[in-house]
Amino acid sequence: MSKTQFFQTLDEVLKTPKRIAVVSHVNPDGDAIGSSLAFSQLLRKLGHDVGVMVSNDFPEFLAWMPGASTIHIYDKEADACNQILDRADFVVMLDFNHLSRAGLIQDKLKSLEIKKILIDHHRDPNLEEFVCALSDTQVSSTSELVAETVLHFGEQYLDESIATNILVGIVTDTGSFAHSMFHPQTFTICAKMVEWSASYNQIHQLVYDTFSEDRLRLLGYAISNKMEVLDEYASAIISLNKEELAQFHYQIGDTEGIVNYPLSMKKMVMSVLVTERQGVIRLSFRSKGSFSVHELAQKYFNGGGHTNAAGGTLSCSMEDALKLLHQVLPEYQEMLVQQ
Ligand code: 5GP
Ligand code: MN
Repeated sequence: MSKTQFFQTLDEVLKTPKRIAVVSHVNPDGDAIGSSLAFSQLLRKLGHDVGVMVSNDFPEFLAWMPGASTIHIYDKEADACNQILDRADFVVMLDFNHLSRAGLIQDKLKSLEIKKILIDHHRDPNLEEFVCALSDTQVSSTSELVAETVLHFGEQYLDESIATNILVGIVTDTGSFAHSMFHPQTFTICAKMVEWSASYNQIHQLVYDTFSEDRLRLLGYAISNKMEVLDEYASAIISLNKEELAQFHYQIGDTEGIVNYPLSMKKMVMSVLVTERQGVIRLSFRSKGSFSVHELAQKYFNGGGHTNAAGGTLSCSMEDALKLLHQVLPEYQEMLVQQ
């Protein structure tokens, strides 16, 4: 479906007032929250009845975002969320494209046979599932696609809140403009958001300069004590188990960004962070250049994402997860050292 077709269908759907549920992915990040808030704020301005939800809570460093308190958290408010979903004419999926990424909301979504709309930048969507889809893996973020959608309806729909939410999504998904910045369009959109009073300085401070002492010490510990450098694979692995996280009084969001540090070494092509969470092992992958961590995460770790950033989950012990990781590395050795 082309962009033009997407906007035509969306115009048609939104011509009359609708009840719309806006849903983003489990373990929501800045782009998930930014795109959901900005899109729901646009929908309300267009006269629709909107409920926004995610499976579980977002990190404290996103709680200041305009409208964040209106987001329903499924694992705390299942009844309110189910009511929104039961009444909805449409559900809009933002920043994910497979129901398995909806966390606790997925079973309800599967049981409803509700009409779905997609706005997303992840790979391999099944577009047949959607009434209409704006799916582009080349853009910086889902928030950028939401910005295009707002501008499609008209610049008069922009305001400081929407502009701020969109800029947070773009800043966080690009690591402050360090990656996924392929097109001049991304900078143009950011400039437009700044014109509409989004403050880059303030966003950067509110999102990144909010560490607790424990979080910074956890980062130091992870790099000094737990980083395994595998020169033969141009890769590094950091693992943090439950006890280690507890030692630093782990709060949601505290491991965010740790995976990026090994890539600041010139010789590194891939970095993996392995953490132990409520009964499962979470893996976070980052890479440089054309080495696709999406494919690696999809093939062996029940996950996926983008070429240079992906995640996955295993239901096993930390020991077995690390064993599997070491086992699969030789298959990718040639590609890793060629970069
Ligand atoms: P992170 O490492 O920050 O959790 O995730 C990196 C990127 O991969 C994000 O864009 C995220 O949405 C995506 N991602 C993380 N985990 C999964 C997963 O289990 N499946 C898929 N398809 N994508 C994931
Ligand atoms: Mn995203």
